[in-house]
Amino acid sequence: MFPFNFFSPIERLRYEPFYKKNYTVDIKRDDLIHPFISGNKWRKLKYLLQDAHKNGRNHLVTFGGAWSNHLLATAAAAASFGFKSTGFVRGELVDNANLKLCQLFGMQLIFVEREAYRNKQHVFDHYFGQDKYAYFINEGGASSLALLGCAEIIDELRTDYDHIFCACGTGTTLAGLSMGLKQRNQQTKLHGVSVLAGGDFLLEDIKKLYGEADNITIHTSYHFGGYAKTKPPLMDFTKSFVSSTGVLIEPVYTAKTFYALMDLIENNYFQEGARILVLHTGGLIGILGKIDEF
Ligand SMILES: *Cc1c(COP(=O)(O)O)cnc(C)c1O
Repeated sequence: MFPFNFFSPIERLRYEPFYKKNYTVDIKRDDLIHPFISGNKWRKLKYLLQDAHKNGRNHLVTFGGAWSNHLLATAAAAASFGFKSTGFVRGELVDNANLKLCQLFGMQLIFVEREAYRNKQHVFDHYFGQDKYAYFINEGGASSLALLGCAEIIDELRTDYDHIFCACGTGTTLAGLSMGLKQRNQQTKLHGVSVLAGGDFLLEDIKKLYGEADNITIHTSYHFGGYAKTKPPLMDFTKSFVSSTGVLIEPVYTAKTFYALMDLIENNYFQEGARILVLHTGGLIGILGKIDEF
């Protein structure tokens, strides 16, 4: 229904720190789906957009921080598929490359102070409660429809893997992957790398979203101080990885994920010959928010 050049290849990763005990590490390049409707944000939006369209809602209304990949993906998807869009931005008025791009794609931005922002339904009702064309999309696209889109990633795999890795913010993408594996009856172990501090809540949230989480391990010690925080070892790793593989990753989500994998490999976490897949969840514009830290 919303066609664009959908392309997410799987590549064998050649990065020396991963060469050990006959492991294979593949990468699912969801970052290549679209430069702005990228990665897991497209997966999550796909069925939400169809639902909006089916219900005659032509105005997408959503939420995010100033560097939100979801805001940008929604803005670009809205422009591509004939929707209007409004983004509520958490916090004080700011101006950055991400928000500029959102506006360029035609998104109206409304800044909401942090306290009020917590109650998203209230914010939506206050501004658009009377607008019968407005369609509420939660922060990050979190929803049951988002799970369906993320589950489809599993259908695109050509071989079975022992382990699949994915960055976790809300855990929605991981919950969708879990659903996809269950539907296909696969024994693959899922690993979520929490990009925020105190990620222990993620497993509970995933259970709430999808009902079960028995094949899931959440790695909670690779957040480097918290959401969007960095430390020199993470930045050094990012430079080494990008310059030796040609695959761009950014410090907020994907670099933390690959760092976790490297650390687990160093610590002999996996069995000999393990077949590992990492989902590149995209979000590369976010690197512009961290570029001065390199
Ligand atoms: C939003 C985002 C995530 C987190 O996805 P969840 O489904 O909220 O866990 C991971 N990676 C990137 C690049 C993102 O933009």
